[in-house]
Amino acid sequence: MIALDIVLDSDKKLLNYGLGGSAGNVLSILGSLGWSSSPIGKLGCDVAAEIILNEFRRLKANLDLIVQEHSSPTPVIYQHQLDWQSGRTHKFSFACPICGVKRPWQAPNIDLPPPEVLDAIQPNVVYMDRATTLGIQIAQYYKERNVMIFFEPSEVGNDPDLFRQALAVADMVKYADDRLEDLEVYDRSKIFVEICTKGSAGLYFRAPSLASDWIELDAYSAPSVIDTSGAGDWCTSGLLYYLFKKDPSCTISRVTYNRLNEALRFGQALSALNCMSTGARSLINTLHTKTINKLAEDLQQAKLVNGSPLEGNIEAEMILREGWSKLLSRRLNPKAGNRSSRDYRICHTML
Ligand SMILES: [Zn+2]
Repeated sequence: MIALDIVLDSDKKLLNYGLGGSAGNVLSILGSLGWSSSPIGKLGCDVAAEIILNEFRRLKANLDLIVQEHSSPTPVIYQHQLDWQSGRTHKFSFACPICGVKRPWQAPNIDLPPPEVLDAIQPNVVYMDRATTLGIQIAQYYKERNVMIFFEPSEVGNDPDLFRQALAVADMVKYADDRLEDLEVYDRSKIFVEICTKGSAGLYFRAPSLASDWIELDAYSAPSVIDTSGAGDWCTSGLLYYLFKKDPSCTISRVTYNRLNEALRFGQALSALNCMSTGARSLINTLHTKTINKLAEDLQQAKLVNGSPLEGNIEAEMILREGWSKLLSRRLNPKAGNRSSRDYRICHTML
């Protein structure tokens, strides 16, 4: 899903906006880390689409596979920041905060692009966050060409058979345990890597084709958790980025348990760093890519204590505090063009 993200404070005033949706976030994060991308989907002919397309243009993405139609408004997701007392940092809604009208995401009814168009892209990874006919067709096309297929569903959706097909074509499947609990009924034996995230409790992963055991990775404890939105997208992006940084010709059959472990820890480090400021991709807007990379690598390599990356681990704690102080200083001196708080409310008709 590619959508416009509108971040609102607890008084429903605009805090920030930009490219969003899981696919939008992952493509944007990886783009900022140097990857090129070819987003596929349908957008409207509206302000929201222009904002999204301009962000993709800045990332030098290939926009040939984006279809625009007047009849299908670009999806808009409102992210409401919550008070500390609620126990959650945010909640998502498709409903306009002014009038309640929704601009939800809909499966794109686009034909599979012709082979010459798909062959020209030559991706390393296909990323899907929803089970759609188009997504599965594209995944199947590239899977036959040894491309890694990553599926990160937030729900089964209203077509279990389509979901089953997406699981069948995926090499890596990642999901949050609080969003998807009922996977037991699906055959997951052919999935190469399965990752189940548990928020602040970390994640579990296994490679069913290698062994059935789950391996647990504790989360890094950030010194100041401001906003957990986008945490999963950072973990995914970090995982993929690291796998291909270590092995530019990486395919799913070349991924080992150890490499997977390292890559997930790198992703978790990025997640922890992003949770220390507001917005699903705030880290990119606040720190330089080199600094982000260095902090995440330092964090990833900090010594483990009793299997936990942080508990009693002064080294990791100091690295996170270093990241926090950098984020704080950037916030006090935001770089030019940084979209900070604006004291107005926004209706979907303006987008
Ligand atoms: Zn509205």
